[in-house]
Amino acid sequence: MMNFDAILKYQDEDEKYIALQRKIVSTDENKKFIAAKKAVQDSAANLKKAEIKANEIKEAYKKLEEDILKLSTELAEIEQIDDNVVDIDEVSYYEKAFNSISDRTDEIRKKTEQLYDTLEKLRRYIENEKKNYQSFNVALNSAKAAFNEVLKSHASEVDGFKKRLNALEAEVNDAEAMKMYNALKTAKKLPAFVEFVPGTTVCCRCGMEIESGVKAKLKNSGDVAECSSCGRKLFVR
Ligand SMILES: [Zn+2]
Repeated sequence: MMNFDAILKYQDEDEKYIALQRKIVSTDENKKFIAAKKAVQDSAANLKKAEIKANEIKEAYKKLEEDILKLSTELAEIEQIDDNVVDIDEVSYYEKAFNSISDRTDEIRKKTEQLYDTLEKLRRYIENEKKNYQSFNVALNSAKAAFNEVLKSHASEVDGFKKRLNALEAEVNDAEAMKMYNALKTAKKLPAFVEFVPGTTVCCRCGMEIESGVKAKLKNSGDVAECSSCGRKLFVR
């Protein structure tokens, strides 16, 4: 039979410990620490994105360089042939080719200018974001130090809870009961163990009517069954 007295003592102590943890988590120092961490992470992500963008622009530049190389080859071919052309159709053909090269050159020039502008903006953005990143890191360090002070101020209290909980767990001395308790704790259903008095009809935690099948399992001292409404462990002391 489970040691319900010890389980209830463990449960009470754990709830007090959880309340202390909540208090620590909800301090301004912790909120600031979390916000400072997020600012650093966001800034790092921004820098990473900007880096990827910069690489994309460099790739686009490379592509334009290749295009320019192709055009100058085409142009060189036309210039070579030009002197020997006598046929009027051929002249018009080379004129068209020359104009096409000229148009494409203009296009490449425009694209290069656009890329240059984008890269310039990106460069300024990265410069600025690097400064942000540095100052966010400084802020994070001081927020971390402030939160550590809060942790330190509660350290002996936390230590006391841990020791008492360990001692109570030894008193419970029941792996199955602890497993049930921790599963319900994870599901945020504390208290996990709720006393049931045979003859009554509702779960005294959630207030719902207990199914007859469950009630049938809760007759004698030491009986444990699950409330079908809230999932907590009902027990008969
Ligand atoms: Zn219930």
